[in-house]
Amino acid sequence: MGKYDFITAELADLKAQGLYNTIRTIESAVGAWTVVDGKRVLNMCSNNYLGFANDPRLVEAARQAVARYGVGPAAVRSIAGTMTLHVEFERKLAAFKGTEDAISLQSGFCANLSAIPTLMGAGHVLFTDELNHASIIDGCRLTKAERVIYPHRDVGALRRALAEHKAASRKLIVTDGVFSMDGDLAPLREIVAVAEEFDALVMVDDAHGEGVLGSHGRGIADHFGVQGRVDIEMGTLSKAFGVMGGYLAGRREIVEYLRQRARPFLFSSAATPADVAACTTAVEILEKSDEPVRMLWDNGRYLKGRLADLGFDIGHSETPITPVMLGEATTAWEFSRRLFAREVFAQAIVFPTVPKGKARLRVMVSAVHTKEDLDFAVDAFARVGRELAVI
Ligand SMILES: *Cc1c(COP(=O)(O)O)cnc(C)c1O
Repeated sequence: MGKYDFITAELADLKAQGLYNTIRTIESAVGAWTVVDGKRVLNMCSNNYLGFANDPRLVEAARQAVARYGVGPAAVRSIAGTMTLHVEFERKLAAFKGTEDAISLQSGFCANLSAIPTLMGAGHVLFTDELNHASIIDGCRLTKAERVIYPHRDVGALRRALAEHKAASRKLIVTDGVFSMDGDLAPLREIVAVAEEFDALVMVDDAHGEGVLGSHGRGIADHFGVQGRVDIEMGTLSKAFGVMGGYLAGRREIVEYLRQRARPFLFSSAATPADVAACTTAVEILEKSDEPVRMLWDNGRYLKGRLADLGFDIGHSETPITPVMLGEATTAWEFSRRLFAREVFAQAIVFPTVPKGKARLRVMVSAVHTKEDLDFAVDAFARVGRELAVI
């Protein structure tokens, strides 16, 4: 018996169940067409909603930032890592989101690990949707607060749980805004209303709402008209913004408190000049124009319509996220492999990212896909769907 036997056994088990992930390698900039494992393929699974990942304006901003500020901040934000770039970015982001202030972090994952354990502790109660993102779950695990997991989007159940814990001195409701694997939305208006009734804080993870929902892609609070009533808006700069980073936006005193206490802010170095400068440019572009957001939605509607017409089960997404439900992990991987052979890149999403038996391809459109691109993808889906008797 070797001390690594449990790992070898676990890996063999993952392979046997079709849950082993063979990670593909990207060999070019991320665009509508991307070079993956030596092959130019139509990219249908990046989170490059607006095509910003290789937008020349963002690339140029990053280049200039590197020329002026170098490649790294060489410190955490709270000691010597806060550059003009971070301050300017936070100011512009808060204005874009319509919040009093914002704090930028190294990633969306870090943002969730920053907010939840800082605001909540022993004796407090967290209310969290059962389908929340892993980074919210981990943020909750880092606190000694009691955790109430409520059924997906069930505001009635949430209300009952709040009533049961009415006496708790501090309550935080935390939810994904857009649920990333299904594309459905949190009923944020109703959530905010029950939060107000029970004097609970509300935090929403806007990772897939950013650059997608609301006017000019301002996010889910704008979409539902509840700006100023969500205490903490968390977001990522790694999806629609096309770069890397995360943030928390909200009331001045909350953000001020996070700058003093959030551990990933205090104990992990600041985001790099190139990243921050590119993010600032992304915000500036969206402030000026909602054209990329409109193109994204156009493409999403077109693709969903065509896949549904072919008879695919595309779930109940309310956003451009288009899950193609396939059930077993092995079917999803086989579907993905056959698409790749036809120059379409759509990676399978299996357990533990989604529940067992709910494997799927999560098809992601981008504002930079042309209608010809989408027709190309649909044609490949139709052929593989028939080969595998999915449609
Ligand atoms: C991707 C994602 C995150 C993490 O954001 P990163 O910037 O990639 O770390 C957090 N929450 C949700 C819902 C996400 O989809």
